[in-house]
Amino acid sequence: MPLTDRIRAQAAALGFDLVGVSPAAPVPTFDRYREWLARGYHGDMAYLSRVDRVARRGDPTRILPGVCSVVSVGLNYYPGSLPPEVADDPARGRFSRYAWGGDYHDLILPRLKRLAEFIIAESGGEGEYRAYVDTGPVLERAYAAQAGLGFIGKSTNLINPRFGPWLFLGEILLTVELEPTPPPPLPSCGNCRRCLDACPTGALTAPYLLDARRCLSYLTIEARGAIPIELRPRLGNRVYGCDVCLEVCPWSRFARPTDEDALRPSSPEEAAPPLVELMRLDEAAFRQRYRGTPIYRLKRRGLLRNVAVALGNWGDPAAIPALTAALHDPEPLIREHAAWALAQIGAGRR
Ligand code: SF4
Ligand code: SF4
Repeated sequence: MPLTDRIRAQAAALGFDLVGVSPAAPVPTFDRYREWLARGYHGDMAYLSRVDRVARRGDPTRILPGVCSVVSVGLNYYPGSLPPEVADDPARGRFSRYAWGGDYHDLILPRLKRLAEFIIAESGGEGEYRAYVDTGPVLERAYAAQAGLGFIGKSTNLINPRFGPWLFLGEILLTVELEPTPPPPLPSCGNCRRCLDACPTGALTAPYLLDARRCLSYLTIEARGAIPIELRPRLGNRVYGCDVCLEVCPWSRFARPTDEDALRPSSPEEAAPPLVELMRLDEAAFRQRYRGTPIYRLKRRGLLRNVAVALGNWGDPAAIPALTAALHDPEPLIREHAAWALAQIGAGRR
């Protein structure tokens, strides 16, 4: 069996839904990435614009000397939908679907390493690799597209015709020469612009161009400081990420439930807990509830900042006791957002 077929079989055995190979050459879209940085669209993510990181993103040999090949994998994480009585309850917090289960890094990285070691063993036992799950200095969507895993949509997400946009991506840089897997004929967005029109903040300023500073995924997860006051109402009850541009994408009709139990929520209620309950989490309770999930990285201060905004947007007096208690929180970021939320509720009652 040719090596490419053995890689496909091994990737499937490890639970990956998609796999492909591309040369480790600089990606053609690197100039667009530099332009994106020059516009300042990366916001507070200063690590993205560090000169050494930019150089490594442009040239994988700066990450791994002698690198020849990039193996990209995709894993379908679509966990389904919540029942309407939970999903549409404004008293509950809304989390991006990718955070409904366990931490995908813990799930994917060990499998990627096993795949890399398999490839090296099958290629004669000599070679080095680096494996990443969205944390490395690699333009992963560009390599995934080159390897045939899908096309990059106007939302900037990678879209696969069989799974839609609900994919975790990972990549292995290898010093082993592998046969590239040329992309099959793939569709494109065509005239569609649903994601641009539906984005709650106008963060997609043009097709294929995301201003992260306005994106709710960035504001609720990556941004460490205060959420800009003018954007707070746009959060609604979103307390971790935003799925709007994925949900409205017509390719989402092909979404199918993930095979991974670890990526499904333990219950619908756990995927969308009551906001007041979240606002009352102390440090120990936060750790116990979210250790081993993507939400843990946000830390309690980030989550409760978002929850306070969501409670202000809900505007129900039932939130007043929890928000009033948060005015005495040791964390200034939480206090400030709780005060804003109380002012919103007060404004709503006048
Ligand atoms: Fe807009 Fe939400 Fe998509 Fe960000 S994640 S671009 S806020 S729709
Ligand atoms: Fe492309 Fe439409 Fe999906 Fe946006 S919603 S990524 S324009 S197909």
